[in-house]
Amino acid sequence: MIQLEENKSIENLTTIGVKGTTYRYCKIEKTSNLISILKSNSLPIKVLGGGSNILWTKKFNGLTIHINTKGVSVEKETNSHVIVNINAGENWHEFVIWSIRNNYGGVENLALIPGNIGAAPIQNIGAYGVELKEVFVECLAINIKTLKSKVFSVEECEFGYRDSIFKNQEKNNYIITSVKVKLSKKGHHKFATKYGDIEKIVKKNSLSPSKIAKAVIEIRTSKLPDPKQIGNCGSFFKNPIIDEVLFEVLLKKYPEIPNYPSKNKYKIPAAWLIEKLNYKGYRDGDAGVHKDQALILVNYGNSSGLEIFNLSKKIRKEVLDVFEINLTPEVNIW
Ligand SMILES: Cc1cc2nc3c(=O)[nH]c(=O)nc-3n(C[C@H](O)[C@H](O)[C@H](O)COP(=O)(O)OP(=O)(O)OC[C@H]3O[C@@H](n4cnc5c(N)ncnc54)[C@H](O)[C@@H]3O)c2cc1C
Repeated sequence: MIQLEENKSIENLTTIGVKGTTYRYCKIEKTSNLISILKSNSLPIKVLGGGSNILWTKKFNGLTIHINTKGVSVEKETNSHVIVNINAGENWHEFVIWSIRNNYGGVENLALIPGNIGAAPIQNIGAYGVELKEVFVECLAINIKTLKSKVFSVEECEFGYRDSIFKNQEKNNYIITSVKVKLSKKGHHKFATKYGDIEKIVKKNSLSPSKIAKAVIEIRTSKLPDPKQIGNCGSFFKNPIIDEVLFEVLLKKYPEIPNYPSKNKYKIPAAWLIEKLNYKGYRDGDAGVHKDQALILVNYGNSSGLEIFNLSKKIRKEVLDVFEINLTPEVNIW
């Protein structure tokens, strides 16, 4: 039996903790229940996982489906690898810990990313030099309209930087019910240690998935605000990628501009642009920019989603006016 709740408060459903309501809400513990609810529903749908990448800006007059299906299983094992199937409602970080306990490698750099498995392919989660696509095999998804299941291969997902087909052509069309990843076994690990301070913390001759994850956790906890302490949804904007012409113009004006060149394009840290405009630590009512991380917008307690969204619009406009760069939100605006 699926319990449908009416006018449910969304305050505890997202990590930024803004207030509001959803007209209908249900939590799905079994994939078969998902099919029945989809069959009987005629309202617009929103799919919710851990709520760590969503900014709710208005009352939602539809049905919010909260995916909470659990289960992790090794589907195939060779001398060098395992293929693991994980249900969409599993917590991502708990899955990373499970992998490390089994000495499987591939996801250690992605430790402590909030949220659930089902959302991981949506923006091809990434951190510390690794993206989901590097371990991703396929995902199973249900089409919201036809109710047909489809397997999406890594190619079909069209993964990019914080991007996939699920944010483009197939936006709002599918609910991901499980994800398969390929992890390495002892003796076959390939570690990514170049990014951030990992190399400073872990000795080169003693690398292991667990040591890298520990280093990543140490770095992340020292740098990123814990949503349990202060409401936030991680990086609010993507780091923009600009062409050479604009880069040369900016370099003349700001010789210190940090940049990551790739194929005649330049990735610029959005945090640097925002900080340059003195927004670090900015506060307007209960909406603000984190005091140490300019890329993270925060809710000091009673901010509405709209207030945070308006602050993001103000920042975008100023960045565009001053640097001619159009910032794109990484967060899903609802
Ligand atoms: C402190 C903090 C740090 C973060 N650090 C990182 C980081 O380092 N790297 C990174 O990539 N991200 C990071 N994020 C963003 C976030 O953790 C990821 O985007 C995560 O994958 C979101 O998972 P979720 O379950 O919370 O998704 P939600 O916020 O619930 O949903 C996000 C989107 O996915 C859709 N969705 C969710 N589940 C499903 C499903 N089963 N099927 C179809 N669509 C679905 C939703 O409709 C929504 O559009 C961070 C966030 C926070 C708060």
